[in-house]
Amino acid sequence: MRIAIIGAGLAGLTVAYELRDSGHEVDVYEATDRLGGKLFTVPFEAGPTDMGAEAFMARRTDAVDFFTELGLGDSLVEPSGLGSLVYVDGRLEPLPRAGIMGIPATSEPVAHLVSAETAARIDAEGEQPGFEWEPGQDVNVGTLVRQRYGDEVVDNVVTSLLGGVYSCAADDLGVRATIPQLAAEFDRLAADGPVHLSRAVANLERARKELPTGQGAVFNAFREGYQEVYELLAEKSGADIYVDAFISGVERLKPLHGNKDHGEGFTLKGGERDEDGKDIVYDRVVLAVPAPTASLLLKQIAPEASARLSSVKLANSAVVGMRFATDEGLPQNSGILVAAGEEGVRAKAFTLSSRKWPHLAERGGALVRASFGRFGDDVALRASEDDLVDWALDDLEAITGFDGREAGLEEIYVQRWFGGIPRYDETHLATVADVATALPEDIAVVGAWVGGVGVPAVIAQARAAAQQLR
Ligand SMILES: Cc1cc2nc3c(=O)[nH]c(=O)nc-3n(C[C@H](O)[C@H](O)[C@H](O)COP(=O)(O)OP(=O)(O)OC[C@H]3O[C@@H](n4cnc5c(N)ncnc54)[C@H](O)[C@@H]3O)c2cc1C
Repeated sequence: MRIAIIGAGLAGLTVAYELRDSGHEVDVYEATDRLGGKLFTVPFEAGPTDMGAEAFMARRTDAVDFFTELGLGDSLVEPSGLGSLVYVDGRLEPLPRAGIMGIPATSEPVAHLVSAETAARIDAEGEQPGFEWEPGQDVNVGTLVRQRYGDEVVDNVVTSLLGGVYSCAADDLGVRATIPQLAAEFDRLAADGPVHLSRAVANLERARKELPTGQGAVFNAFREGYQEVYELLAEKSGADIYVDAFISGVERLKPLHGNKDHGEGFTLKGGERDEDGKDIVYDRVVLAVPAPTASLLLKQIAPEASARLSSVKLANSAVVGMRFATDEGLPQNSGILVAAGEEGVRAKAFTLSSRKWPHLAERGGALVRASFGRFGDDVALRASEDDLVDWALDDLEAITGFDGREAGLEEIYVQRWFGGIPRYDETHLATVADVATALPEDIAVVGAWVGGVGVPAVIAQARAAAQQLR
């Protein structure tokens, strides 16, 4: 078979790699001039530095197993383990370590971040009437937590933690779509009647404590950045990879005179041509592109799936990477999340990369990543690069007292992520399921919007899809 993969991000390259010895001819088309998509390692003078994803969840073994199989086990590094902070009401506080994505079982882990009234409300939740829960359903995280615990828990804690991962406020995210273990616990508790949030979180925390310890760090990263992965996947795949190859349409050939044996397959607008100058015909198409692009490309070949997918929206963000000559005065923490609605602060988070990762600290000086933009706010699109850098330096100083200009700003890189991450709201999983049902067998979809945002989830879904194509 001849297979076209559109998009050379992690998902597309993983599929290409998995098909390496399948006997199929594989062509990969990438719109930009580089591979990796949201994995992007920039050559800072001090060493390669990630400007997109910087880490991955190592406890979920899909990624570690895959990287080890690729021969990259020795490139994996662990974080320092320094704690993170949250900036709330103009002060820096430790980020709660207990709870599920910032949702606590009792007031104890968040008492320093909310009022006494909210703390009392959290502790009384178990005595209030529970909420009705239909197994399998999804609800909005913000709405649920506001109803059960009050606004402060959402604005000061959950949006910072969960929203930091998803570039969205908690009010734009679904429980099952982003915290599936919590939704599964609701499913379980609902068998006995109305459900309590505090009980579900407590049960999950108890189960977590019972897990065997000593499994290593929760997160890992790559010593030389994610380029180690995407370059190796491309090389080992053996596929023909075309960059600067924007695909603007996919068309299914029409059967000739109703004879299905003639004219089966797909051609790509913007794809390669054969020696006779004719469009190459593909037996299978794999869409490894963000949801809105997948929706456009499915328009002619799977109109129903295309229409359904058009509801998935993306959150824009921007990352400003900054290298300073000295780290003197930078807090001894891995990162800082900014609570929703903090006046006068534009950044939503800072990763104190050289504190978080010992391999980056070894380079000397300080490396800090400032992140901007949540779903619905277009700061990442609107602001000039100069403004983003100024805001990053101003906010860092206002929040931590670290004067980056004084510390000697040696290198800067501004990366905008137009349509960085899909909005996983409470309708997302139903949308993905409907799209899967509406897709013909010779078209596959892979990527963050299909199986989940994290690197392990993207790998697991792409590998499973590739198995179907072999
Ligand atoms: C700022 C940021 C930080 C992140 N941090 C982490 C993290 O620390 N840990 C973690 O696990 N995850 C993180 N993520 C999420 C993770 O990086 C992504 O979910 C994952 O890399 C997505 O891979 P993908 O292949 O699905 O999509 P993409 O990386 O978006 O790849 C899609 C590719 O398709 C190409 N394309 C689009 N349209 C066309 C077209 N018409 N023709 C041809 N090619 C096209 C694009 O150029 C792109 O290369 C982060 C994401 C962002 C944005």
